[in-house]
Amino acid sequence: MHDIDTIYLDGAFVTPHGNEPYNLFNPATEAVIGRVRLADAEDANAAVAAAKRAFPAFSRTGKGERTEMLRCLHAAVLAREDDLFEAIVEEYGAPVSRGRWMAQHAANVLRDAADVLDTYPFTRRAGSAEVTMQPLGVAGLITPWNSNAGFICGKLAAALAAGCTAVIKPSEMSALQTRVVTEALHAAGLPPGVFNIVTGRGDTVGARLAEHPDVAKLSFTGSTAVGKTILRTAAETLKRVTLELGGKSPVLVLDDANFADAVPLALQAGFMNSGQACIAGTRILVPEARLAEFEARIVEATGEIHAGDPRDARTTVGPMVSRQQWERVQRYIRLGMEEGARLIAGGPGRPAGVARGWFVRPTVFSGVRNDMTIAREEIFGPVLSIIAYRDTRHAIEIANDTPYGLQAYVLSADTARARGVAAQIEAGRVLVNTLAHEPAAPFGGFKQSGIGREYGTYGLEAFLEPKSTLGVL
Ligand code: NAD
Repeated sequence: MHDIDTIYLDGAFVTPHGNEPYNLFNPATEAVIGRVRLADAEDANAAVAAAKRAFPAFSRTGKGERTEMLRCLHAAVLAREDDLFEAIVEEYGAPVSRGRWMAQHAANVLRDAADVLDTYPFTRRAGSAEVTMQPLGVAGLITPWNSNAGFICGKLAAALAAGCTAVIKPSEMSALQTRVVTEALHAAGLPPGVFNIVTGRGDTVGARLAEHPDVAKLSFTGSTAVGKTILRTAAETLKRVTLELGGKSPVLVLDDANFADAVPLALQAGFMNSGQACIAGTRILVPEARLAEFEARIVEATGEIHAGDPRDARTTVGPMVSRQQWERVQRYIRLGMEEGARLIAGGPGRPAGVARGWFVRPTVFSGVRNDMTIAREEIFGPVLSIIAYRDTRHAIEIANDTPYGLQAYVLSADTARARGVAAQIEAGRVLVNTLAHEPAAPFGGFKQSGIGREYGTYGLEAFLEPKSTLGVL
């Protein structure tokens, strides 16, 4: 049983003012595995005050100094990779292959930010003016449970690279990961107050950060509904806001695609992170003329997917994070059936032979229309919709007919043709015949998938403000 009763404030682990107890679960067994003492708004205030005190000195550090700090943080998180991996599997239920990637990713984003900072020009010329990129101030960083450690480190890396100090509000459901990451970051020995980590509820600690007059910048990853609330609240103090929100990403299978490659790629895109991924390719657009062939291959390939014990090396789809999330996914599966979509794989309930744990059957509907609820709303579980299209123009029309615009996938035997299609898709990222991540490229959404970008130079500049000085050149 894990007992987490401290927060990280001003360089030390301290008992929070808040005292609400909160249970942590193992989603594979439904057992309570830990107890967290949640922080409250008063703790958020103390953390903001610490970050505000640390800002003047930290914002004046040189680029080389901060690059060195980021490299120390990277080494410190890397040193705890195994502990972080254990926490991710135990508390989140990530399959071991995914969990390993997530633990490494949390360290890598710190190294990536150091590399960006290394070559970033903070001062440049615009006509007769000198333009200096200045850190915004105290940053509030709010993370979701589906990639808590990665987002703590990624957002913190960009904030620190810019010279901002930070208050992090991690997901309250991810306190084991947060503890490991916090211990690692603490070991790097940065000055007190530069970053503070306050685990509490969104509507108390998160909301306080969104309204706090001394927070200059908010970077939030989570649901579109909460993102809108944050934007409204932040408007009062005109905070700079980065929002990374939901998605309903299309996978455009062009009529020349080789299905032997396209089908496994589409399933990986759809079921990644057990379907709990904002970038999951959940709408698979298939040419009418080849629909039967595609469906047959999907049925066969889905039958081979192992959904179950995350510690079994064969597993690629683990449990949903919580009972609430399990019920939400079940509701969408029932809704798909009621709306008249054709179930071709999976369905309601748990996978065969699984009696407990928040496991879902990897599910694929075909005969889906783009106006059905399962094609419009983010399900955040392993439930995919196949939508047939007439011609490429129709496919692009369906792909863009969504309130979201985070990511899209184009699968084709002809890269030049795929590039032409990609150019017409409204999404922050379009992946052609690949699932690879590029840390130097901006990440973020069009439309209701968010505002702003993370990663690379774009992510760094989200924590900076340009200041022009005239008459000095
Ligand atoms: P969520 O919006 O419920 O919570 C996200 C975070 O916000 C949590 O830390 C939560 O405590 C906090 N929060 C909740 N209410 C708040 C409030 N009123 N004010 C301030 N903070 C508040 O989302 P979730 O369920 O943790 O995560 C799943 C969602 O995240 C999905 O919609 C998914 O698409 C999205 N997501 C997006 C990306 C991306 O990069 N675009 C990445 C991962 C997840």
